[in-house]
Amino acid sequence: MAKKDYYEILGVSSSATQDEIKSAYRKLAKQYHPDLHPGDEAAAEKFKQVNEAYSVVGDPDKRQKYDRGEMDMDGQGGFNPFSGSGFTATGFDDIFDMFGSAFGFSGGSRRRSQTSAGSDIQYSLELTFMESILGCKKQISFTRVEKCSTCGGSGAKDENSLRTCDKCGGKGHIPRPQNTIFGQQITIGVCDKCGGSGKIVTDTCKACGGRGTINKNRVLNVTIPAGVENGSVLQLSGEGNASRGGGRNGDLLLVISVKPSKIFERENLDLFVTVPVTFKTAVCGGEIEVPSPEGMFTTKIAEGTPNGDVLRFRGKGVRSARGLTGDLYVTIEVEVPKGLTRAQRRALDEFERDSSLKNYSKRKAFLDEVSKLFKDKEEE
Ligand SMILES: [Zn+2]
Ligand SMILES: [Zn+2]
Repeated sequence: MAKKDYYEILGVSSSATQDEIKSAYRKLAKQYHPDLHPGDEAAAEKFKQVNEAYSVVGDPDKRQKYDRGEMDMDGQGGFNPFSGSGFTATGFDDIFDMFGSAFGFSGGSRRRSQTSAGSDIQYSLELTFMESILGCKKQISFTRVEKCSTCGGSGAKDENSLRTCDKCGGKGHIPRPQNTIFGQQITIGVCDKCGGSGKIVTDTCKACGGRGTINKNRVLNVTIPAGVENGSVLQLSGEGNASRGGGRNGDLLLVISVKPSKIFERENLDLFVTVPVTFKTAVCGGEIEVPSPEGMFTTKIAEGTPNGDVLRFRGKGVRSARGLTGDLYVTIEVEVPKGLTRAQRRALDEFERDSSLKNYSKRKAFLDEVSKLFKDKEEE
């Protein structure tokens, strides 16, 4: 297999900076996002390649290994953050920034000024297994800090109850000279008298008690994308707490917990189910009903299907929001019937009388080996 040139896929030179690589990746990932090209296989392939390339050269350590030719290039996707079902907490900020609009959440950059941003709110959201597989709509209600609408966040009763801070002269910050071994250094600090606003409140707003913010209940309708996993974090930009200093809002982080299913087990995008079948169906072959995320479907099992046989159905596993699908693995469990009636026992006695070792290849091979085992013993 030809070595893939990840730089070429991302359209950057091999000497590009990490920032250049990141911005090239974001541009391409947006351009080829499956939601924008439903059913377009070429775009989906390109999207996959772009993600694979970025998963390697977007990481400085892996990039170094790749540059030295030490990285396995068989495209197994071991480094691909998109090879699984997606929404893991790792790197979610980046991913969500990019796909936020596609999922109907408000977009916006996660970057913000350090001092004045509001705090994030974590919200635990429990989903049933099927809700997590198929996606769902949820209404959530939580309390957050919002800017006081009465005073517009100033904390003052009206315009006349604000005066310029005398300590900083309205600038909001003050220089603090410090003596260090390099001589005197001047640090600019936030003014402690006005808290950085440059204004002093003389008469406080009654609604918020001068804080400029109030606690308010917020109700949101959110669309949970299909295929989310237990522990996934969905980030809703700007839905967190308001900043007291006038900066941007924090984010709402939806932490997903998925109730386990009694039918399915999940591994990434693959689903596993065990279907008990009757002794007769396993022996003679026949139709069985199999559950899948899209409902029940019928399939045929072959004559003489052994216990523990696994059937694989491609594309019948979990479908992720990005249009990737996993497989469904069906394990056949031949159930030994219990509580037989006399008539049933008689039928089985008759069946056994008509059977011979020809019907039981494993038992025959076993008995042959066992007899050899003791013959060898005698000869020793
Ligand atoms: Zn107020
Ligand atoms: Zn001040």
